[in-house]
Amino acid sequence: MTEKAKRFPLTLSSLADKKPGTDQSKRSVATPQTATKNAAWENSRPPPRTAAGAPPLAPSSKAMARPAQSASHVDRSGSMVSDGVRKAMVDRVARQGVSDAKVLAAMEAVPRHMFMEPGMSSQAYIDASLPIGHHQTISQPYIVARMIEIMRDNQQGGVLNRVLEIGTGCGYQAAVLSLVAKEVYSIERIKPLHELARSNLRPLRIGNIRLHYGDGMLGLPQVAPFDGIILAAAGLEVPQALLDQMTIGGRLVAPVGARHQVLQLIQRTSKFDWTSTTLEDCHFVPLRAGTV
Ligand code: SAH
Repeated sequence: MTEKAKRFPLTLSSLADKKPGTDQSKRSVATPQTATKNAAWENSRPPPRTAAGAPPLAPSSKAMARPAQSASHVDRSGSMVSDGVRKAMVDRVARQGVSDAKVLAAMEAVPRHMFMEPGMSSQAYIDASLPIGHHQTISQPYIVARMIEIMRDNQQGGVLNRVLEIGTGCGYQAAVLSLVAKEVYSIERIKPLHELARSNLRPLRIGNIRLHYGDGMLGLPQVAPFDGIILAAAGLEVPQALLDQMTIGGRLVAPVGARHQVLQLIQRTSKFDWTSTTLEDCHFVPLRAGTV
């Protein structure tokens, strides 16, 4: 692979030779997503494994324009100091139980700090969800990786064609998804966040993401069916419209619940049948109907 080929947007094939982890039963119990806990770095411990695959992105105009931050400043040679911090984040996510090398490589390639307000970017790689405005959050790195890992572990051997994300927020998870699926559709119901995601993603020049402004509870019937669907906001149940827009064999991952939420995996087994598996506790902002 040439250096050029490894730059963003990465092709699916550039990551396809990495062996995905598959055995979910052996995964360690994960921590729930929370904005308040574990801001501490785990840099002191040597990582048990590294995420093979995609290199970090080249510094973009947006990253270069930002003032020096502890997590993301540009040194004299122009390389991003955030690369090492992001690598540490990925090592931590792996220690938390995510083993899919392709997901870890995607997390290592996406500059998370570019999805934050400049004032927050020094915290971009901590193990927490963080505010992005409008009472919404960018999800904790672990849960982003975990949901994608669960979604990818599918009957087509992990090759995803078309995926849908409900809740674009700042666009971070869509960027990670763009490295593990051929086509990514993402819906956001809050107009300013939809626009924020658009401007965050623009400098990354990702060719396979389509952002939609609308109520994600309705899905995107004009584009369906989807091999994978991820909900980044928690409802009391998964909307039927989304179940209907899954391919047979498709996988949907969603937080479900109100105060107590669990991550649910729904698999479509036939035209009229779905199975549901409850995985682990989590904490997400609520799924809401309509647009604002
Ligand atoms: N995917 C984001 C997380 C965003 S937080 C990340 O990368 O970090 C969840 C988002 O879901 C919020 O922006 C919220 O506005 C949005 N949301 C909630 N209900 C929705 C709905 N019905 N349709 C679309 N977006 C919705």
